[in-house]
Amino acid sequence: MKHCPRCNQRYEDENLNFCLNDGELLVEFETSDAPPTLYMDSPRKTKENWPEVDSGQQADNQQIYATRQPQQMYQPPGGPAAQYAAGTDNSLPTISLVLGITSWVLICCYLGIPLGAAAVITGYIGYSRTGQNPEAYGGGSMAIVGMVLGGVSFFLTILLFIFGAIGGMIG
Ligand SMILES: [Zn+2]
Repeated sequence: MKHCPRCNQRYEDENLNFCLNDGELLVEFETSDAPPTLYMDSPRKTKENWPEVDSGQQADNQQIYATRQPQQMYQPPGGPAAQYAAGTDNSLPTISLVLGITSWVLICCYLGIPLGAAAVITGYIGYSRTGQNPEAYGGGSMAIVGMVLGGVSFFLTILLFIFGAIGGMIG
């Protein structure tokens, strides 16, 4: 096969020496173009081993990121919130919780009524403060526990008082 160097026209006829278009001397077509492409293939094969190692490392990294990212997502809400609550006034909710627990201990002596009522009041005030001004007051959950403990002991003491009175009337 021959080709013209000026117009790149290819000629299958080996006997043809000049280009039919421009009369340029035809050049024997270089059929040895294959070896250079084979040279290109051999370095590619060695390269193929690198992406396999890299892809494995990338997979490990992606697993690390996959396990780390959820923790990083959860930590910011918990961390600042905990520090946030530490700088707030928890005195009333704490008093409510202590009164609520104490009212349970003293149900037998009918002191559950005043202590339970005090726990509900202090718990209510403390909880409403956290709702109105959450930057200054904290311990909302503690206030709720104090309210519930105080309220339950309050009514339990009343029930004990009523049953005690009925028992006294019958007896
Ligand atoms: Zn030509």
